[in-house]
Amino acid sequence: MSLIGAQTGTMSRAETVLAALDEEQRTAAQAVSGPVCILAGAGTGKTRTITHRIAYGVHTGVYVPEQVLAVTFTARAAGELRGRLAALDVGGVQARTFHAAAMRQLRYFAPRVLGGPMPSLVENKLRLVATAASRSRLSTDRASLRDLASEIEWAKTTLATPEDYPARAKAAGREPPFEAAAVAAVYASYESAKQRDGALDFEDLLLVTAYALEEHPAVAREVRGQYRHFVVDEYQDVNPLQQRLLDAWLGGRAEICVVGDPNQTIYSFTGADPDYLLGFADRYADAAVVKLERDYRSTPQVVALANRLIGQATRRKGLPGLRLLGQRPDGPEPTFAEYPDEPTEAAAVAARCKSLIDSGTPAAEIAVLFRINAQSEVYEAALTDVGVPYVLKGGERFFERPEVREAVLLLRGAAAGGSDPGALVPTVRDVLASTGWAEHRPPAGGAARDRWQSLSALVDLAVDLVAETPTLDLAGFVGHLAERANAQHAPTVQGVTLASMHAAKGLEWDAVFVVGLVDGVVPIAQSLARPEAVEEERRLLYVAVTRAREVLTLSWSLARNPGAKRARPRSRFLTGIAPESSPNAPGPRRPGKKQKVVLEGAAGELFERLRAWRSQAAQSASVPAYVVFTDATLQAIAETRPANLMELSSLPGIGARKLDLYGEDVLATVSG
Ligand code: ATP
Ligand code: MG
Repeated sequence: MSLIGAQTGTMSRAETVLAALDEEQRTAAQAVSGPVCILAGAGTGKTRTITHRIAYGVHTGVYVPEQVLAVTFTARAAGELRGRLAALDVGGVQARTFHAAAMRQLRYFAPRVLGGPMPSLVENKLRLVATAASRSRLSTDRASLRDLASEIEWAKTTLATPEDYPARAKAAGREPPFEAAAVAAVYASYESAKQRDGALDFEDLLLVTAYALEEHPAVAREVRGQYRHFVVDEYQDVNPLQQRLLDAWLGGRAEICVVGDPNQTIYSFTGADPDYLLGFADRYADAAVVKLERDYRSTPQVVALANRLIGQATRRKGLPGLRLLGQRPDGPEPTFAEYPDEPTEAAAVAARCKSLIDSGTPAAEIAVLFRINAQSEVYEAALTDVGVPYVLKGGERFFERPEVREAVLLLRGAAAGGSDPGALVPTVRDVLASTGWAEHRPPAGGAARDRWQSLSALVDLAVDLVAETPTLDLAGFVGHLAERANAQHAPTVQGVTLASMHAAKGLEWDAVFVVGLVDGVVPIAQSLARPEAVEEERRLLYVAVTRAREVLTLSWSLARNPGAKRARPRSRFLTGIAPESSPNAPGPRRPGKKQKVVLEGAAGELFERLRAWRSQAAQSASVPAYVVFTDATLQAIAETRPANLMELSSLPGIGARKLDLYGEDVLATVSG
């Protein structure tokens, strides 16, 4: 190819990259050198702009890919960056969390800066904190230990020493579980216990890496020679410790691009400070500052709700408003729904998920978002009941799951014995079969299904890779797995995502169910005493609703358990957003007397026998009868008299789990 031809080829790739951006985004992407700051709302293309900016820099030859380090805050968000970069044909760029990047560098430099191999990581922080607390003669329980651990984490991420802690905690309005001086003492003794063990905690990882760069010129030279261009996504959530590491990486250079949205600051309670984002242009006088307003992610209906929600926030002085302008075609209005209790709410959400999937929405394009992880359980059960697969939090620790480790070891062993190109998928299946994996999904619920899903994800990955590279053999596959494990890049498991609102940051789905919106959960009870903390909870809800491309449903339930008093008020953030009395609420709040099921003749007789069986089943499982089956389900069984499991499974209220648990018994009862 002639030189001109080669150049044209290069330019056109770069031009393609630019063509996918709007004018403001393009301005940012073309500013490949010098400080750049993008301050913009959710869904305006910040992440898209930085990935395209990197691609533009690489395709124009300004960047050597290996010299670009993009950092963000969660493993999932880092995975998202890697996925988008790969789609732009950019290999070699490092996209990691602060922790993963620090860990990699420290592992390499540990012998030089610590005089030995990489220290171990603290595995059980609470145990260390408990020892430290008892040395200070504090009487603690699990909750106060956890609070103590958060105070220590906060102190370390804000770079406060034990001596600094009391004054700094007071200034920041912290509410420690014990007197500040006592917390400081626990902090100090925690640090020395950790040092005795020769272990590092997560904060130390960043601190020691920054220290290595600050104090060891040779290390600094090497790292700064390796990384020349820095990009930070979600910069509103950077904390002083991470900023210190970033400064150490930069070493006075200004090759940095940051993007963020102050309205999405959701970690300030743990030490994050949006002032780094807001003050960026003051720190770098020559910074290119770009604002984006057009929301490309969500329908105008979703955008309107998001604007209304954040419009009610008490905004910090000087904070830009960042209203969003929806760019997509119209979609359905967001819906609001109130339920009597959580299992009913979960069942309704699961049913909606199922009907979305049945009408063509891929399961992976649906998410259920909640405030605390404990809320996921009832959704796991409900989705299992209707036979919809799910993924918990996206499994960022996929490669650490025991079944995956075991499988990878076995695959590696098999690969060592030689492998046959063209037979990858059957070979992977055979090897996994030796661990008990089978083609067929095991009955839903519990550990067996989780295990099956993980192993099937490995098979799916093999299938995908063979489609790309038909000659890939087992050794190549094992190498690929090792690379992915290194990059913490889990294969996607097809399923509805169940995630906390925090874990959803930066991501997007066609349909999003934001659930459990009762006061005391959103905003969370611990935040209620402090207005700034309540505002952080509002931003968290804003993050959650802005994840939806088209379908958005917000729901809550008046009681946790069926039959309990329906006393929980819906989230205060819904005031002025949701209609006063929800039109979608299923039935009146206080139903009148329950209607008794009356069935005539043979159906009536069977119904009574089913009820008798149910009370026995309920008793032996120590659960209330309706947990086994509701009256409505028993009625349907009595009326249709299913002859086999297939017919039984088509009745309402009989999901895979119920079928598995009770199917045979029910059929036996029906046939008398
Ligand atoms: P968040 O604040 O939630 O992290 P963001 O600002 O990073 O959001 P992106 O995730 O980059 O937003 O973009 C949101 C969606 O809009 C993505 O699907 C992206 O591909 C799409 N998008 C962004 N800009 C454009 C554009 N100019 N043309 C078409 N689609 C776009
Ligand atoms: Mg983003």
